[in-house]
Amino acid sequence: MRALLLWLLFTGCSGGVGELPNIIIIFADDLGYGDLGVQGHPTIRTPHLDRMAAEGLRFTQFYTGASVCTPSRAALLTGRLPVRSGMAGDNLRVIFPPSPGGLPDEEVTIAEMLKGAGYATGAIGKWHLGHREGQLPTSHGFDYYFGIPYSNDMSPANSGGARAQTYPPLPLMRNTDIIEEEPDQRLLTRRYTEEAVTYIRAHANRPFFLYIPHSMPHIPLFASEAFEGTSARGLYGDVIEELDWSVGHVLSAVREIGQEENTLVFFTSDNGPWITAHLAGGTAGLLKDGKGTTWEGGMRVPGVAWWPGTIAAGGITQALATTMDFFATAAGLSGMATPKDRIMDSVDLMPVLQEPAQRVRDMVYYYRGRRLFAVRQGSWKLHYFTQSAYVGDLPVAQDPPALYQLDQDPSERFNVADRYPEVITGIEEAVRLHRATLVMAPSQLRVPEWE
Ligand code: MG
Repeated sequence: MRALLLWLLFTGCSGGVGELPNIIIIFADDLGYGDLGVQGHPTIRTPHLDRMAAEGLRFTQFYTGASVCTPSRAALLTGRLPVRSGMAGDNLRVIFPPSPGGLPDEEVTIAEMLKGAGYATGAIGKWHLGHREGQLPTSHGFDYYFGIPYSNDMSPANSGGARAQTYPPLPLMRNTDIIEEEPDQRLLTRRYTEEAVTYIRAHANRPFFLYIPHSMPHIPLFASEAFEGTSARGLYGDVIEELDWSVGHVLSAVREIGQEENTLVFFTSDNGPWITAHLAGGTAGLLKDGKGTTWEGGMRVPGVAWWPGTIAAGGITQALATTMDFFATAAGLSGMATPKDRIMDSVDLMPVLQEPAQRVRDMVYYYRGRRLFAVRQGSWKLHYFTQSAYVGDLPVAQDPPALYQLDQDPSERFNVADRYPEVITGIEEAVRLHRATLVMAPSQLRVPEWE
């Protein structure tokens, strides 16, 4: 019945299955805008990601759908703002081991859509959208799952927090089975990579969608013996350099099966760096603040696209784009249509991937929980509320709203609201229309079911 409903949602039809491109999304956890060599980090070495960018396209203005793990993952997989799917909590909630709920069944994931086009679908890494029966990746369109179902600090063995002492041992899962408890986290990145390479090799002759949400560099940090102690940046750098090694192996596997001209690979991060973790957290480079905030450092992340023969080598684009755009992009590539019975926040990125000067979206909405904190329109960003630090600081109302010109002031240093009242008027009109899309479909605006 569910399969039939999904089929009915999509009005498009796929072309020849053999021609469909593979899609791989590599999703780091809490990796900041400034944490890669190609993004300007002075002491973290990322030769594979640097090469991926040199052979592909790098986005300088790429955004996540939220500033923390759970809603960010919901946004990527559904192509919708978390406030629409019920995956935005009151404040900055994420799913914890005692949380009862997960991604609602009514949501359609990229994996469910691509299955309709005949894709094999795999998820390897951290899920964090519900971990009980019926909530795991295999219940949301993935044929195969390997990884940990929530964050790597949510365990008695790996968190200093008193609450974590009441949690069960961290599970490592294959599909719906717990295959280990408290796996050696030094080996997580390596094991995910081996699983990903095996998956790619096994699908040399069939279109596949592979989603690789790494557990790292979310704290506590772990690197394997081959990387620990090797980076000038310390353990954080070791972890990033191992992730870079992993990216190199994934791209090599794609080349090995002869699918490099038939595979779109995208590398990004789920939110900004955990800067309140001090040296255990990364950096947003010249962007302000980090994880948990709606300053640029919280939600603007690295974005690197690679598809030899389709994406020209060495491109850089200033186009606005978000993780939610993967949905429409994947729909376009697979010949499927996006769901028509709900409001999507997703635009097809192919025009930008093929011509970096193209623009496909003008607006970015920065929610913290269910509250709209800031809005970007073109190069302008208006803040209604701000906060700093992932934990501790309370939101501050910006009344009147604060305006920054991001193209000229990427670090959000100078509030120019007094000088551009007409810009504010234009943004507020766009916000009024946006809010109307939230109230037009009240059934889509759920109170979180998972808290
Ligand atoms: Mg995260």
